Amino acid sequence: MGDLKRDAWPQLPLPLEELRRAENRYFGGETRLYDLTRIGWVRRLLKRRWLQFVVTLPNLAIFFLALAGGFIGADGANRGPDQFGSAITWYLWFAAVAASMLFLGRLWCLICPFGGLGEWIQRRTPWKKKPKALGLDLNWPRRLANFGVLPSVAGFFLLTLWEEYQGVAGPGDPRYTSYLVIMIFASAILVYLIFDRRTYCHYLCPLTALIGVFTTPSVLSGFRARNRDVCLECEGKDCIRGNANGYGCPWLVYPGSNATNQGCGLCTECFKTCPNDNVGLYLQPPLTNVHSPGRRRMDLAIALAVLWGMVWYEQWNAFPWFSNPQGTGLDDVLNRITGWPHYPNLLDFVGLTFVVPLFFYLYVRVTTRLFPAVGDWRKAFMAQAYALIPLVGSDYLARQLPKFWDHIVRVPLSLTDPFGWNWRSFQRIPLWNFHILSNAGVVESQVVLTILGTGASLYAAWRIRDRDYPRERGAGAFLASACLVILLAGVYTAWMYIQMAGAE
Ligand code: SF4
Ligand code: SF4
Ligand code: SF4
Repeated sequence: MGDLKRDAWPQLPLPLEELRRAENRYFGGETRLYDLTRIGWVRRLLKRRWLQFVVTLPNLAIFFLALAGGFIGADGANRGPDQFGSAITWYLWFAAVAASMLFLGRLWCLICPFGGLGEWIQRRTPWKKKPKALGLDLNWPRRLANFGVLPSVAGFFLLTLWEEYQGVAGPGDPRYTSYLVIMIFASAILVYLIFDRRTYCHYLCPLTALIGVFTTPSVLSGFRARNRDVCLECEGKDCIRGNANGYGCPWLVYPGSNATNQGCGLCTECFKTCPNDNVGLYLQPPLTNVHSPGRRRMDLAIALAVLWGMVWYEQWNAFPWFSNPQGTGLDDVLNRITGWPHYPNLLDFVGLTFVVPLFFYLYVRVTTRLFPAVGDWRKAFMAQAYALIPLVGSDYLARQLPKFWDHIVRVPLSLTDPFGWNWRSFQRIPLWNFHILSNAGVVESQVVLTILGTGASLYAAWRIRDRDYPRERGAGAFLASACLVILLAGVYTAWMYIQMAGAE
């Protein structure tokens, strides 16, 4: 993994003022706007041991309701779009997670039922502090840890392939949504029983790479040490080891040096355990952790490139050149040649998804070769990938908007028959087919989001130039190269949404 901190750390000795400025550049100290724990009731609430249990429990109940709804009911297989579990998962949940990660850090992880249930089982208690964990309590092997969140990207890729193949998010047969939920619950609990802390959330959860990458533009900085000098002198390091008040950081984050919101699961343990009252929950300007994340990570940069390919695949598959009723689209032809039963053909799913990171990689290699002043290609790859985060993140949210605007009203209405027992005909419920926005409105919202994402990426590239290329000759070339990719990608993404005309 690249370590820009080491590459660009200024030479010592420096006047104290300059040292502090340099430190702020890497740790984002000057960007902290407000410590939310200064508000009395917030502070008191965050100290409560039951907090995470209480905010997770309703979510767990909804997920179990959704899960049960997939199996109970007279004709579950034929009532996909009408079934509560499918409706809440595909019309609301994914859009809500996409929006929350862009604006509110890992807020979803605070209330996530998968991580929550696994952790309660592992701790043998929903909220108390117990000394011994259930299970083997092993460390995640160091060799695998070197891959960072890449196993999570692989998991998200495979899950998406399966979801597309079964048409789960259509939404199709609600039983498949239930299978999906069971798969995630089962894998989470298994890993919680084998490995220590939140190994599952840190490395393996299919969503952790997605959330970790796209949470960096958010205004919530996560929990951090108020004063790092206090941490340097603190011998106990209870935030890591835990004490009678709480557990050592389950997410393997050290608040004393944490400089990004990417890994903090907002679990509040360090706020409870720090004996020096040296932990706060800060608001920061948007995009701070995109341009000033402490150090850039190659695994996150690769994750961004692959996730970019995946979201473009989700757009390409709506075009006639990909698939059409005459059977002349790429997917149709490949299915005929390979004997693959139906969409998506494995070859185009893998090929089209990975063509984007491949082109991005080649682009960075060529530009760093043409303009050697830009420096090592790894540094340029990470910097440009980080600059693209807001644009690709907004693309993920935009892709969810057609389902959200067209069907969100069905989520509360489907509660009138959550298990599909034919209590009533959904089609006769007033407002069942009500669309909040027309097709044109959906497209406008997608294009506006893409424009905002493009603007945010351009701004991030400009700030990254200042931070990663201070006083370097290659700064201009880096900025020109990054802005070219962002503008081309932004215009193409918006064009695709216009062509798709609000397709789900
Ligand atoms: S990383 Fe995954 S399992 Fe863990 S809390 Fe977040 S979404 Fe849930
Ligand atoms: S326990 Fe508190 S003071 Fe000590 S290292 Fe952790 S955050 Fe810093
Ligand atoms: S212990 Fe602190 S730093 Fe670690 S995940 Fe929880 S809130 Fe974040």
